[in-house]
Amino acid sequence: MRRRRRNRIAKVLRAAQHGRCAYCQRRLTTSTRPGGRPYWNTETIEHLQRRAEGGTDRLENLALVCYECNSLRGSMPWVLFATIRQRHVRSLERMLAYCNGWRPG
Ligand SMILES: [Zn+2]
Repeated sequence: MRRRRRNRIAKVLRAAQHGRCAYCQRRLTTSTRPGGRPYWNTETIEHLQRRAEGGTDRLENLALVCYECNSLRGSMPWVLFATIRQRHVRSLERMLAYCNGWRPG
């Protein structure tokens, strides 16, 4: 994707997503570490459906996500990954861990 188009798309998505990651809802930054390496919450443009799986560069297939989510998603379908990354699911995970750790005495 060309740099000018990338900048224009990032601006549209930033407004639509209120500056937050589409997956984990954390606030995104546009800045990077000295030398250009990203922070965990540096914004990246994500293809919801992977290009390798026929996903396009059209706006409806793009989202701003943090570098951490971008690195973690792997080959997982985006809907599943987004669900897992939401806070309420993390609290469910904690509850499950608590329940699984419980043993009748
Ligand atoms: Zn994220």
